[in-house]
Amino acid sequence: MTGFDLIVAGAGPAGIAAACRAAETGAKVLVLDNNPAAGGQIWRNDIPALWAQRLSNVEVRGGCSVIDDSILAHGVPIVLATGARELFLPFPGWTLPGVTGVGGLQALVKSGFEVRGKRVVLAGTGPLLLAVASLLRKRGASVTCIAEQAPRSALLRFATGLWRYPLKIAQGIELGGSLLGVPYFTDCWVEEAYGRDRVERVRLSGFEQDCDLLAIGYGLVPNTELATLLGCTLQDGFVTVDAMQKTWREGVWAAGELTGIGGVERSLVEGEIAGLAAIGELTEARKLFSRRAAWHRFASHLTGAFALRPELRALPRPDTIVCRCEDIRYNDLTRWTSAREAKLQTRCGMGLCQGRICGAANHFLFGWQDTSVRPPASAAPVSDLMES
Ligand SMILES: Cc1cc2nc3c(=O)[nH]c(=O)nc-3n(C[C@H](O)[C@H](O)[C@H](O)COP(=O)(O)OP(=O)(O)OC[C@H]3O[C@@H](n4cnc5c(N)ncnc54)[C@H](O)[C@@H]3O)c2cc1C
Repeated sequence: MTGFDLIVAGAGPAGIAAACRAAETGAKVLVLDNNPAAGGQIWRNDIPALWAQRLSNVEVRGGCSVIDDSILAHGVPIVLATGARELFLPFPGWTLPGVTGVGGLQALVKSGFEVRGKRVVLAGTGPLLLAVASLLRKRGASVTCIAEQAPRSALLRFATGLWRYPLKIAQGIELGGSLLGVPYFTDCWVEEAYGRDRVERVRLSGFEQDCDLLAIGYGLVPNTELATLLGCTLQDGFVTVDAMQKTWREGVWAAGELTGIGGVERSLVEGEIAGLAAIGELTEARKLFSRRAAWHRFASHLTGAFALRPELRALPRPDTIVCRCEDIRYNDLTRWTSAREAKLQTRCGMGLCQGRICGAANHFLFGWQDTSVRPPASAAPVSDLMES
């Protein structure tokens, strides 16, 4: 790690933008990402040509997890851009084979998983449902329906507020065109999934639907484990930063979905600011503040429209599994008052994923905030663990 002027953890849009802007001033930049290739969630295996070209001046190491605070020992400024993951909410049948996250199914399809001729129901909330439905259709799947939990009135308000973001209108028109004929229900969510060995049928609000695959997505939650291990401050679950994207931990900046959920443009501009600020180019960074403010406004608009409805808290039955690593059921959790207590008494969140799935679900269901994080910050090969 020595010999570099900046280290970036995460090679999604925010990390790429941070690295490129810093490298373009002559800085020597290293980017580490636990995926084999750069691109993050949205650009997986397919970075836009402009960014791919700019990235050529940067050293990118894929398959390399940053797992603890030993990264700080090199005394090199660090930009954290570790992004977000999907939020899963438990309901009866959600552990059946064939039930996946929408982003998970998208990643599978982009890696070659065959969906041609398969009947797919997509349910949950937000524009990601539409993006994934469009991809599935292009790959020959039959998208049986899209169930959006947000109320129709919220979506209408969202759509009418889009006039300030022509780029988003253009994207919306393109997506809408690719989904002509696909039933889109608002105020609608999955109540139960049925099937003997795998999902065969789902019950949505007021009707049932046969399917081969059910893809669920209730929005995103930030990957804050590394930031927490490094001693950054969190507020409402997100890393707190100042105007220069600097965290409260000396020598550490943060950008992208780690600091708030709001789409690729928001991640990019935050990444650019963080990369410039981390190497001391504050005047250049300031020039990007107004662009960032616009995408922060868009993010608030998005979050308000797709807020999760309280009815979703009533979906699990007493025997519904909540922590799928340790097989902990809803009924096992209701008597405890905190994530820590539930963990100590039931092992909830102590399995393979270390609460990365049930932790966010329990926050929504019970209001618990699990702040205890231990290394490794993300799944890592033994070789990485031995080096740290
Ligand atoms: C599953 C999923 C699918 C999505 N699909 C779409 C889509 O189709 N269209 C769309 O507009 N938006 C999509 N989004 C939202 C999109 O990812 C964001 O809008 C934005 O692009 C996020 O950029 P980012 O750089 O902040 O984070 P990300 O793109 O999430 O990048 C973060 C990177 O950091 C890496 N990382 C995390 N922790 C570590 C660590 N400890 N060490 C090393 N590397 C680490 C991750 O592997 C990842 O490559 C998706 C989000 C998710 C979670």
